[in-house]
Amino acid sequence: MLYDYTRLRSFPKKEPFSLWRYEGLLPVSADYSVPLRAGWTPLYPWPHLAEELGLRAVWIKDDSLQPTASCKDRGTAVTVAAAKKLGRGALSCASTGNAASSLAGFCAAAGLPCFIFVPKHAPAPKIAQLLAFGATVFRVDGAYDHAFSLALAASQEFGWYNRSDGLNPMVVEGNKTVSFEIWEGLGEVPEAVVVAVGDGAVVAGVCQGFLELREAGLASRVPRVFGVQAVGAAAVAHAFGRYQRGEPILPAEEPAQTLADSICVGKPADVVRAVKYVAKTGGGYVTVSDPELLAAARELARRRGVFAEPSAAAPYAALLRLVKEGVLNAKDRVVLLVTGSGLKDPQSVTHDLPEPPLIPPDLSAVRKVVERCA
Ligand SMILES: *Cc1c(COP(=O)(O)O)cnc(C)c1O
Repeated sequence: MLYDYTRLRSFPKKEPFSLWRYEGLLPVSADYSVPLRAGWTPLYPWPHLAEELGLRAVWIKDDSLQPTASCKDRGTAVTVAAAKKLGRGALSCASTGNAASSLAGFCAAAGLPCFIFVPKHAPAPKIAQLLAFGATVFRVDGAYDHAFSLALAASQEFGWYNRSDGLNPMVVEGNKTVSFEIWEGLGEVPEAVVVAVGDGAVVAGVCQGFLELREAGLASRVPRVFGVQAVGAAAVAHAFGRYQRGEPILPAEEPAQTLADSICVGKPADVVRAVKYVAKTGGGYVTVSDPELLAAARELARRRGVFAEPSAAAPYAALLRLVKEGVLNAKDRVVLLVTGSGLKDPQSVTHDLPEPPLIPPDLSAVRKVVERCA
């Protein structure tokens, strides 16, 4: 092959290609950053879906393509940098799994010890990541909310810097960078962004990012931000409903049950911001059932080649609902945030699919299957 090598001399280059490109809007200097690339994830257009649903445009922001394969790497990158700046010697967090593996990965890169509290039912691949990264793991015999309280108590007792959602302001500061990337990638802000919600720290960050862009004069408006929860774990959505009716947001605490483990939260740590910020953008909340989440994960994978864990497919399920109800229509350009990889919990998505046939290693066996498919 022959390439025009002279053109390479002016190759576009605008480093860093990570969330640290927005250093001016972050609370910590990039000098303290850990050498793992957080942020700068792809934004994929999906014109076929937009046409099918009668929307102006649809994009997928694939935040599963980060060092530990979830959106949590944004909050973690800034939190660990802050810990380094403050000279803290060890970190901790409670997590349904992804924040834990994220913190474990960044602590490994920073050479700092970390102490992780996960609920009993965290999926095996997420625990595997923790062990691979060398974290000290406490599997708590209880739900996420128990792990959260124990992490808090242990961090106070032993002086660890706690990354848990709702406690450490650095988490939302990191999370907001996804909105900067959407704005930079599109050259403007879309009409709507849809994101899965458990504790509320991700959706709070998404909203804050867009509000800051407007504050900085870089965007003239904010998109409507829609939070998605599972029907069986909808404490934030219910709190939003109360807020809209002029009732108090707190206490937001209810039983939580869904196959989407990353958003299976009964006592959301960031509920106040998750409710008030979404209201500020003119957005709202949607709840979707477990079967809808499962179908969404499969459709995203089969139609777009993006394998999301069930929680991360929630925005797709919600989009179908928002279009059906007429909340979003032909005026709207919509970004779906995919927050975590399907490899984090493959069992949930594939458990009831047929096993591939086992065949002898010869061509005639292949021919038989091909002919049956034809
Ligand atoms: C953490 C997470 C969410 C939700 O984030 P919260 O801050 O808990 O609301 C959604 N999807 C995935 C895959 C996550 O890891």
